Amino acid sequence: MTQRITHIGFDADDTLWHCEDLFFEARERLQKLLPDRSIKEVTNTVYDVEGRNLERYGYGVKSFILSLVEAYLVLKKRVDSAEIEELLDIGKSIMDSPARVFEGVPNTLEQLSQHFKLLLITKGDLVDQERKIKNSKLAKYFEFISIISEKTPQAYVEILEDKGISPNNFIMIGNSVKSDIVPVLDIGGHAIQILYKYTWMHEEHPAGRFVKPYAVLDSIAAVPDFLKELEKTRE
Ligand SMILES: [Mg+2]
Repeated sequence: MTQRITHIGFDADDTLWHCEDLFFEARERLQKLLPDRSIKEVTNTVYDVEGRNLERYGYGVKSFILSLVEAYLVLKKRVDSAEIEELLDIGKSIMDSPARVFEGVPNTLEQLSQHFKLLLITKGDLVDQERKIKNSKLAKYFEFISIISEKTPQAYVEILEDKGISPNNFIMIGNSVKSDIVPVLDIGGHAIQILYKYTWMHEEHPAGRFVKPYAVLDSIAAVPDFLKELEKTRE
C-alpha cells in the first residue's frame, strides 16, 4: 500500500453479526418436512431456486422465504398448507430475531472509529437490515450507512465518489470474497476477509483464490493490530 488508509468499510451480515446460521437452520427445518429427501437434495434445491430468483427478488430474508416455499413446492408431492404456514413462520422468526453481534465488535469499532472514518455497506432486505442496524446499537460508530441491492464494483465506486474517498485510502472488511473483497480490489481499494463458519453458496467466488492478495483474519478483533502493522510497513 502506498497511501494511508483513512476510511474503513464494513459488511454487516456474518461480519458484525451472525446471519447465515439462521438460514442454515431454516433449510434443516425444511428437510424435516420432507423425510424422503436428503439434506443435500433439499439444500441444493433451495440454492437452485434462490439462484433463479435472485435477479427478480434480490437478497434478504423475504426473498429467502419465497424461495424456501418454492423449493418445498418443487420437492413435496402432497402439499400441506400447515407446512407452508410453518415455512412462513420460520421467515417471520428470522425477521423477529435480534441482531446477534459478534463478541468484540463494539470495542473494535469504538477503537477504530478514533483513527478512521467507518462506513457500513451492506446488502439485503431494506427493512430487515434497518432493523438489525438499529437493534445492534452499532450505528453510532459509522459516519455513513448504505444498504444497496448488489455489491458491484460500480456500487462501491458510487459510494466512494459520493463521499470523496479515493479507493487507495479505503479498505473493505467482510466475510464474502465475492461481495466484499473482489469488487473492492477491482476498483483499486484494499480488503480484509474475516472468516465465518458458513458461506452461502451464492456468495462463493470461484476465482477467489486467484485474485490479488488480500488479508484473511479469523476475527474482527484482530483488525486494529493488523492496520497498525500495515502502517509500520509503509513508514
Ligand atoms: Mg456478509
